[in-house]
Order: sequence, then C-alpha cells, then structure tokens
Amino acid sequence: MKKIIPFLLGIGILSACSKPSPVLKNHSYSNYEEVSLKHMDLHLKADFEKKILDGFVLLDITNKSKTDVLVLDSRQLLIKEVSVDDKKVDFILSKEHEVFGSSLQIPIESESKQVKISYQTTPESAALQWLSKEQTNDKTDEFLFSQSQAVLARTWIPLMDAPAVRFTYDATIEVPNHLMALMSAVNPQQKNEEGVYQFKQEKPIPSYLMALAIGNLTFKSTGRNSGVYAEPGMMESCFWELKDMQQMIDEAEKLYGSYVWNRYDVLVLPPSFPFGGMENPELTFATPTIIAGDRSLVSLIAHELAHSWSGNLVTNRTWDDFWLNEGFTVYFEQRIMEAVYGKEYEEMLTVNGYGELQLTLNELSKTAPEDTKLKLTLNERNPDDGLTDIAYEKGRFFLQTLERTVGREQWDIFLRRYFMEHAFKTMTTEEFISYLNKELIDNNPEWKQNAQVNEWIYGKGMPSNFIKPRSAAFDRLDGELAAYKASKDPESFKTDDYSTHHWLYVLRHLPALNTADVKALDAAFDFNQIKNSEILCDWFQLSIAYDYTKSYGPMRSFLNRVGRRKFLTPIYRSMKNKGPEGLEMARNIYTEAKKGYHTVAIETLDELLK
Ligand SMILES: [Zn+2]
Repeated sequence: MKKIIPFLLGIGILSACSKPSPVLKNHSYSNYEEVSLKHMDLHLKADFEKKILDGFVLLDITNKSKTDVLVLDSRQLLIKEVSVDDKKVDFILSKEHEVFGSSLQIPIESESKQVKISYQTTPESAALQWLSKEQTNDKTDEFLFSQSQAVLARTWIPLMDAPAVRFTYDATIEVPNHLMALMSAVNPQQKNEEGVYQFKQEKPIPSYLMALAIGNLTFKSTGRNSGVYAEPGMMESCFWELKDMQQMIDEAEKLYGSYVWNRYDVLVLPPSFPFGGMENPELTFATPTIIAGDRSLVSLIAHELAHSWSGNLVTNRTWDDFWLNEGFTVYFEQRIMEAVYGKEYEEMLTVNGYGELQLTLNELSKTAPEDTKLKLTLNERNPDDGLTDIAYEKGRFFLQTLERTVGREQWDIFLRRYFMEHAFKTMTTEEFISYLNKELIDNNPEWKQNAQVNEWIYGKGMPSNFIKPRSAAFDRLDGELAAYKASKDPESFKTDDYSTHHWLYVLRHLPALNTADVKALDAAFDFNQIKNSEILCDWFQLSIAYDYTKSYGPMRSFLNRVGRRKFLTPIYRSMKNKGPEGLEMARNIYTEAKKGYHTVAIETLDELLK
C-alpha cells in the first residue's frame, strides 16, 4: 500500500539534485536551524468520498543563514506545485522513508519571504482517520480526525515537523455543509451554512499540535472559558461527565500561573481515537472511553489540561526529551486531582499509576533496558516507540521526589517560575538540569545530596531515593485481598463503595486463580455487563489468562468497538502470551477489527502480532 505513494509523488519532480540529500536530525529532515518558519496559512477542502484534504499552504519564512534551499518534511502527500514569492519553482522530493517520509527541497533566495505549496493528502496519510457513519457514535454522518504527535503532522501538511519549531497559524477549512470543522485554534461554536470555517492560532505552537476534526458536532459551555464538543447523541452524557472542568482550570491556575490560551474546550471523539487524550491547544481531543457515567476517569482531562503548561507552553525540544512534557504533566495532573477531589482520591490514582509503571519496567528491563532512562536515545527509531510509561510515571515520581526533597512551598515557587520564564520556548533535559541546579538545588547542600538528579535522568530503573506511593484506601483492600486468598470467597470484597480505582487495584492484585475462581467472581460481580472500559480491559486480560471463555464474546465486541491503544495492546498481548492458539484468536479478531483502528494503533499491533 505504501509503495504506491512514492511513485505518485515522482510526478512533477523536475530535476535531480547534485547536492547530498538532507539528513534526518531529531526525526526531521527540515533545516530549521537555517531557515525559520514563523507563520502558516492553511487552505484545505475535505473530500469524504476520496478521503483526501486538497488545497495549499502558505509558509512565511526567514532565511537566517542565507541558504539556497528550504527543506521540509513530507510523507504520504501528493505535492502538486510549489512557488516562492509567487514564482513557480522546481522542487525535489527524496525517496520516502516508511516512518519519516521524504525531504521536500525547495530552492529559495536569501530574501525569500513566502512559500506556497499546492498539495493533497492521500487516503494513506497516517495522521488522518476517515470514519464512516457506522464508526461514529450517532451513526448519522461521516467523521474525520487527525493525530499529529509524534511525527505525523507531515502526513497532512508539508512543514518543519520538529518540536523545536514553533509557528502561528491561520486556516480556512471547507467541509460538507452538514458538518462542522474544529482545530487547535479559536473555534466556532456552531455550524455555518456555507461549510467554510476560519481559524486563528495566535500563539506559536509546534507541529505535533496541529489538529483538525470534522463531524456532526454540537457545543455546550461548561463555564467561563470551557466547554464540550460532541456528537449530538453523546452530548448529554459528555456534559455530565465533564462538569468539573472549569474547577480544574481554576485550580490549575492557582498552582502554576494563568492559563494563557484562549479557551479550554474538549472534543469527545468517536471510539477509534487511538489515545486517551491529545492536548491540542484550545481543544483537547478525548476518547469517549472516559465517559464512564460516574466521573471516575476524568483525571484524563486534568492531564490534558496540565499540558496547557507542560508541553504546550514549555515544549520538549526533541523526542529524546519527551519526559519533560509527560513527567511534568502527570505530576501536575496529580496536583489538580488532589486540589479538586482530595488527597485520598489522588493517592489511589498514584498507586495505580505506580502499578502500571512496574509492568512497564518489568517488560523493558527484558527487552530494552536503555528505554527505562528518562532521557532517551532514540536515534532513528520511531519516536512513538520511546513514548512509554517511563516518561509519564517515572518522570512524575522524579518530580515528586524533588518536591519531597525541597518541600512543596519551594517546589511550587520554582515550577511557577519555570513555566513563566520558558513560556513558548523549548527545553532540553540538560537545560532543565542546569536551571534546576541553579535556581533550586544548589541553594542547599542537603538537597543536592538527596535529590539524585543524575540517577533519575540517566540511570535505568528506579533510583534508591524513590519511595513507593501508598494509599489508605488500598491498604483496606490489601486486607480484603488476603481474606479472598484464604477463602476464594468473592464476598471477601466489600464492594459497595468501590470506585473504578478500587476495582482496578483488586483485579491487578488477585492471587493465582483457576477458571472456576474467575467464574465465581463473574457470578458475584457480573463483570461482562460493566460499561467501564478500564475495568473491562483488566477483566478481559484475567479471563484470557485463566481460560474463562464466557468473556470472549464481550471481548471481541469491545475490540471491534474501541480503538484506544492503551486497551488494545494488553488485551491482544494476553492472547498472544497464551501460545499458538491464543495468537490465532488474536489475529482473527484483529483482522476483523483493524479496519476501525487508527494507524497509530495499527502500527503497534502489526508489530505485536506479526
Ligand atoms: Zn500527556
């Protein structure tokens, strides 16, 4: 399938270049150190029948190094024509790499100001998922959404696809007039009759935050500067679930300074969205699997909101520094959850987060121990491979350790300044360490000795000063688990006040079982009837491990309905771990369900089930 594209792209390439091809650096071919991209003006029309976006992009550039070529990233695009300051030029597109695509080389002059690229995406463009009516919640209209992180922006816009580059943008998006378009920008709140939508993002953002969604969407405000977009049939439940959003924003601002973006809205997508959420500025994209009916999974919103500071305001310069985005965000998420829902609730989330980190550490210590360091060395690997729980959870526990070392008051003052002084800039791990030392740690010899900064960042696994998180609520569950281990009686669990987090803790700490035990648990708690996707994900893994085949029907329909990679990977992996028969079952279900998954999930699962 991918092979067709480079052939198509060959058309229109006029001359061979005598210079060496641009080399890949930090996962981008673009020469952003020589030429700066300041602003983009995007004009695209969505064609749902052909599954393409067609139009042009205007790039405002400054040729800092007076070089004679602008190099951009492009993958799975059909580049039709390029002009520089209104003069048509010949361009060169290199052979397409399967992850990083091609370098698009455009001749420029020292005073060149604007480059216009006419192009269209292809049905293969990996960032874009075109959904049929049947794949949406309401099943009334088609839907499109994008996912640009980490290196997929180049599959729908030719640009400098590196987090080191920040630009502002305007966009005009034309859609069928029964649909609405939304972007990571100031957004409309209702449809217009022409189906033409204008967007403006006046704050400079990196390419991985470029985002577009098109669908039959409605809007409802949740407060002063927040609101929800969803398909009409989902609006009521989404609105109920996300009611605390404004309070989260207010608490976040109290912690680390004012919210600098225009609004904070959330778009609840159809279930094939491969991630929990994506922190697109002004408009978080979220999976509908957080709509649990009891507000138990809204920490995801706290997480994406926290990215408005960590990530969107202060951005990792390269994907090797990814923990600067995610570690800070999980830490900040934890603080928002504590402020809104209380310490005891937050502790449960942190303990479960630690449980997930342990699984990742176990897995990686066998397969890729280098990837258990906070600072990664990805070289030419797909950055998506390095984006594991290490960046998120080990990163969070590092910052929690710093908080404990210097005290919350000093730590909060430091973080507030860190966000303010580096707003709209990028950060490397080394720059962060030097800022941390200079502004905080060096002030006190005891802190310097206790923080173990280098061990956390450049060492494998968990350093010796890590203290395991605890939760009083889960201490009670340990008692119930011990009683269950002795009796195998499901009544050992006093489930009346269980939240999602209690269930997850219990499911993850059960003793060794047999099929009859699992059957008894199901008879007592009716797991296959639960609608909560987090609980189902753990339940299906347990059912597979102990051959409880009654869950296989519900599991198959879950895998056909939901495309969130966090759930797909462990469930398919559990089947694979059962041996040849399990692998065959996994492949069977995958063949049927794959058509509903986004490329991001497909790439992971192809690798897992090959
Ligand atoms: Zn995140």
